[in-house]
Amino acid sequence: MLLRYRFRLYPTGPQRAALARNFGCARVVFNDAVAARRRAHAEGMPYPATAVLSKSLITEAKQAPERAWLGEVSTVVLQQALADCDRAWKNFFDSVGGKRAGVRMGPPRFKKRTAVQAIRFTRNARFRVLESGRLRLPKIGDVKVAWSRELPSEPTSVTVAKTATGKYYASFVVSLDGDETLGPVEAECGIDLGLNDFAVLSNGRVIENPRFFRKLERKLKKAQRVLARKTKGSANRAKARAKVARVHEKAKHQRDDWVNQQVAKIVAESQGIYIEDLSVKGLARGRGAKSIHDAALGMFSARLESKAARAGRSFVKVDRFFPSTRLCSTCGVLAGPKGLDGLRVREWRCECGAVHDRDRNAAVNILREGRRVAAGQADTVNASGGQVRPGMPGTARNTRVAGQNEEPTRTRLVSTSR
Ligand SMILES: [Zn+2]
Repeated sequence: MLLRYRFRLYPTGPQRAALARNFGCARVVFNDAVAARRRAHAEGMPYPATAVLSKSLITEAKQAPERAWLGEVSTVVLQQALADCDRAWKNFFDSVGGKRAGVRMGPPRFKKRTAVQAIRFTRNARFRVLESGRLRLPKIGDVKVAWSRELPSEPTSVTVAKTATGKYYASFVVSLDGDETLGPVEAECGIDLGLNDFAVLSNGRVIENPRFFRKLERKLKKAQRVLARKTKGSANRAKARAKVARVHEKAKHQRDDWVNQQVAKIVAESQGIYIEDLSVKGLARGRGAKSIHDAALGMFSARLESKAARAGRSFVKVDRFFPSTRLCSTCGVLAGPKGLDGLRVREWRCECGAVHDRDRNAAVNILREGRRVAAGQADTVNASGGQVRPGMPGTARNTRVAGQNEEPTRTRLVSTSR
């Protein structure tokens, strides 16, 4: 399995200049390759192979005075730029030929100076992490790295990128054999994703929304308002746009760090992890409310799934038609508040006498349903109750288990009467 580890870099002035040269050379080779293939196509010639382009656009080009400066950077960087261009064409052909799912892709376009800039070094380039903690990049120097954690093994490649906000990052690819080493634990965990809180766990732990979500959202709105007032094409507009990009970037980093911490804790302490389908909460909230909170929920769910898989934990996403909020986790009847009440009421009493915190009760139901699905049983938790509308409860058929093929998306809209 391949993992990516990203760290901030702090290049010195001369190193930044060397990086700029590298970005420039990689861009030129990429663009030369796009041009060469377009030309071949226009002339009805076959698609030139990467080896041919490598010879003409790198080896021979270096001999020509107008491309002699290509010699100032590592050849590996240039070859990787060619490889990127090659992959872009391949993706385009696969997309046209129907071999690639998703949005139809266009052919590769020329890269502009303004885009995010990146270069890649493979092992052939002899990049190295030094004893001192610096990253040695050929023809650039020993660059300072802000290590936030250790690399689990020797990286196979490193991509160095400069963002739109002028920051530098190194992204290492590390290949790992087998699972991350986490010991088995007894506990299992059901997770109800929150509308008010971030999430509520079946063991009663409440993960509250961190305060910086709101703070960053306010900052972002303000920066966007400022941007909207600036005249198009003005220097002030460019400045305001950079400010928006900076706030976005900060929001993303803080959010990602925070989500990763929550995920790591849950995976470390739970052998089985059961979570409700995210679309339920998305629908309950309605349109136009996409926020840092929502983006974080999406990331939380996805990270949890991949980290659980790596750690050998069982992971089940409980179907959105499973009435987790309305089931009584004590007696199993469908007695909880419906519709808008269900969103408003935080506590309710079942006819059996049990008093439930809405979200905790839902988390416990999700835990049970997830376990049931994981165990591959056929009957639903509340089969004995007989209180469920036909077609309502989550049956194994409707519930996705990590690793199994996903069913085609259901188009029926869920009502909020859960
Ligand atoms: Zn009850």
